[in-house]
Amino acid sequence: MKYRLLFIALLVPITVYSQKRPAKQTEVKVQRTSLSREQEMQLGKEAAAQVEREMEVVKSADVEAWLNQIGQQLAKTPQANAYPYYFKLVNEDSINAFALPGGPMFVHTGLIKAADNEGEVAGVLAHEMSHVALRHGAAQLSKQQTWGSIFGAIGALGGALGNGGQCTMWCQAVRMGAGLGGNSVLMKFSRGYERDSDLNGARMMAAAGYNPIELGNFFQKLEAKQGTAGEPKGLQAWFSSHPAAGNRVAYVSEDIQFYPKASYTTSTGNFSRVRQMVASLPPPKLKPAALMQEAQGGTPRNGLPQGLKDYRARGFAIAYPASWQAGQPQGGGSLYLVPQGGVKQD
Ligand SMILES: [Zn+2]
Repeated sequence: MKYRLLFIALLVPITVYSQKRPAKQTEVKVQRTSLSREQEMQLGKEAAAQVEREMEVVKSADVEAWLNQIGQQLAKTPQANAYPYYFKLVNEDSINAFALPGGPMFVHTGLIKAADNEGEVAGVLAHEMSHVALRHGAAQLSKQQTWGSIFGAIGALGGALGNGGQCTMWCQAVRMGAGLGGNSVLMKFSRGYERDSDLNGARMMAAAGYNPIELGNFFQKLEAKQGTAGEPKGLQAWFSSHPAAGNRVAYVSEDIQFYPKASYTTSTGNFSRVRQMVASLPPPKLKPAALMQEAQGGTPRNGLPQGLKDYRARGFAIAYPASWQAGQPQGGGSLYLVPQGGVKQD
């Protein structure tokens, strides 16, 4: 009995210590990818153009300046890996934000509404920017089997989707399943990549003068709102693509112990004003590319002339001869209605 007590007494302090501070800070790696930085930026530029065709970018110089003020503080840090980041607000009530390869970043109005301070917004920016800085989207894209062969052929391939009749990088990426949805290889990451982005993001925040603990705290606070009346729109989808909030707080807190002592004082001082402006925005207007997307569910229109079928889009419906084909090319933004055999996929 005596031995056992002694053993426990020795073990406890050691265990506590090792949980508190591991011997070595977790290493975070920039991923390898066959894309050059220029190619990443070109892809991001083309994808951002598609975002602007589908989503309503809020044209408020004040809000955009505010987002960029926070973002550029973060972008100056070594953890941002010197990509040309820029930030836009999109009128979307769900809680979300995403960054595209090479640096374009879009923040949903729903995210600003769900935040209680600027540090929480900075935390989400830092996390998403870290996916760019660590080249996660590009790494996943270049792992796709077809990328290598397609990549060499860009420019040689003809296609109707890009400018000048050529299939652009974005058009090629979409053909490989790298669209803008939540399941895109550019947006859906492994738990390992998510953790790396949290750690890199926390380091980025600290280097920019924001309190890194806000990164995990925000998600823990949101987690507590799950299932309540105050649950922000889109929260389930957000959590399903990110690690559990408790884990994030734990490994970020552990990482912070390795940072130099600092008091975190960065703030634009404008958060409350911006949040008020965002709250007063009118509901989003669907953009043309979104209006053309096929409507899900609902009932078809009655009383169409015989021999006609209905194509029901989110923004309109159009009847066409039943023997024709209707649909959208994968790049989106246009609609085809063609006789059987009138078009051939190449
Ligand atoms: Zn992420």
